[in-house]
Amino acid sequence: MRINFLTQITIAFVLAIVLGAIVGPEIEVVSPLGDAFLRLIQFIIAPLILATLVVGVAGTGDLKKIGRLGGKTVAYYLTTSAIAITLGLGMGYLFAPGAGVDVPAESIDESAAETEATDGVVDTLLQIIPENPFESLVQGDILQIIFFALFLGIGIAAVGEKAKPVLQFFEGFSEVMFKVTTFVIALAPIGVFGLVAPIIGDHGLSVLLPLFKVVLAMAVACVIHLVITYGLAVRVLGKMSPIRFFKGIAPAGIFAFSSASSAGTLPLTIKNTTENLGVSKGTSSFVLPLGATINMDGTAIYQGVAVLFIAQFYGIDLTAMDLMTVVLIATLASIGTAGVPGAGMIMLTLVLTNLGLPLEGIALIAGIDRILDMFRTGVNVIGDASGAVIVDRNEGFDDDDQGTTQPNQTA
Ligand code: ASP
Repeated sequence: MRINFLTQITIAFVLAIVLGAIVGPEIEVVSPLGDAFLRLIQFIIAPLILATLVVGVAGTGDLKKIGRLGGKTVAYYLTTSAIAITLGLGMGYLFAPGAGVDVPAESIDESAAETEATDGVVDTLLQIIPENPFESLVQGDILQIIFFALFLGIGIAAVGEKAKPVLQFFEGFSEVMFKVTTFVIALAPIGVFGLVAPIIGDHGLSVLLPLFKVVLAMAVACVIHLVITYGLAVRVLGKMSPIRFFKGIAPAGIFAFSSASSAGTLPLTIKNTTENLGVSKGTSSFVLPLGATINMDGTAIYQGVAVLFIAQFYGIDLTAMDLMTVVLIATLASIGTAGVPGAGMIMLTLVLTNLGLPLEGIALIAGIDRILDMFRTGVNVIGDASGAVIVDRNEGFDDDDQGTTQPNQTA
């Protein structure tokens, strides 16, 4: 009997929690399984995005359309991020996680945090333009790869007949990369097991107790954001049943939760949105890598909850102006957050510095950052996928090879 992929990945996840809790730190021996899987999935990213995006753009060749598509994507991502922070702040007030807690502070490397956070906006934008596109591919710089692929696609469309062989090459290459993705992703349940079991074995469920309210505030905000913000957006703007959406994106959501890396989940996110949600490959290879780089709603929620936690812990009252600053700065911080484990915590320094809150506050929740990271990454990835559905329905690339839309899902 063949068990469907979502069930396999769920079983692996539950098994990892149970075995991790029973065996304890020795379960660490399975972590190479998780690391191997992460490496496998990461090696797909650069060639997959390049090939599929070139094909998607070349099929359209319409600069105006690409501009509109980009504009809609960024507008949607910014709006949902601002909603996410507001929700995080709201839950921070409601649960008051920082009032009357007594937790030992972890040591954190603040200097590393500060250097990461000080890149100027102009610099960041400039860096999207690659000096050498091959270097971008080598380094896996996602925004630069998107930039290169857009231009290559537009160039192919503009040249026309003579560029046919180039287009055919990328068409074939993109099919091959999708096939490779299918092979690798079939191993995801093993990867999930290898990633989750050591976390539970290491931390034990008891580290969560003193900071239970932080985790609770975060979890409740995430669930509300998923169900209400994305549920409504997908239904109203994407004309898709939220149940179908959540079911289709669940494997990527669980993998994001397990790996705490939205960049690392990208190939699975692309596969789920094209095969289960019927988004075209061109749209998903544009909207999703962009989302994995700039759209971090879970991270935004976390910034809201964490700011209130720290303010409450130190007994500092935040004014309405402070709260507005949080929304603005945390939106920027979440854009600047890399899709790798722990990045959101580093970017929190930016928000705290702007508010004049003590940076040491971060050390209070550093011990459970991995757990918070799991929640925020799950939301980050599902948020990206909701953007892909909505943009595709409104202004997608319509490449011929639309993903299959049967409910009979494979991954
Ligand atoms: N780990 C998150 C992600 O990959 C980023 C963060 O730390 O907030 O999406």
